[in-house]
Amino acid sequence: MAGNEKLYGVLALQGDYEKHQQSLTHLGARTIFVKTLDELSRVHALVIPGGESTTMLRLLDYYGMFDILRKFGAQKPIFGTCAGAILMARTVSSPAQKSLDLMDMDVERNAYGRQVDSRIVRLDSALGDLEAVFIRAPIIRRTGPGVEVLASYLGDAVLVRQGRHLAASFHPELTGDTRVHQYFMDIVEA
Ligand code: GLN
Repeated sequence: MAGNEKLYGVLALQGDYEKHQQSLTHLGARTIFVKTLDELSRVHALVIPGGESTTMLRLLDYYGMFDILRKFGAQKPIFGTCAGAILMARTVSSPAQKSLDLMDMDVERNAYGRQVDSRIVRLDSALGDLEAVFIRAPIIRRTGPGVEVLASYLGDAVLVRQGRHLAASFHPELTGDTRVHQYFMDIVEA
């Protein structure tokens, strides 16, 4: 079965990492939670969940994982959702903070507005019709030429791929639909 050989990590410092593990496990992937450098060194691909990107950054720095995670991403696939997508970006605004700079895109945090900052919408994506849950989501304000836009919402990219990396400003782990995780696994297994 696909996914049996590769080991998938889910960064488990903060955020909704358990749901990602459930989606990957459902698809037959072998998974571990990644909380240490040793665990990171064992995995072939990593999911960075949603949560609070500022808190994740603090914890990555505290555990000395930031630079090593960037080196990991220079070689291995990472799928970042929401806060994870923020960490993947080249630049981050509102407010500015550092990021892994693994994808050529700029994001603005919490940019969909306060009253309607969380919503469920239907997207017409390259993967078909998708239900997308946005929770205090960033807007991907710019994507570079190497970035493939797989879905957009209100004119902004919300699901993007650059080579081995995938990022979503929404939360595919919160619907029963595992196509986005399957898409990531297809990248990893290719
Ligand atoms: N607003 C959060 C941040 O800026 C992201 C929210 C999420 O991951 N659902 O990090």
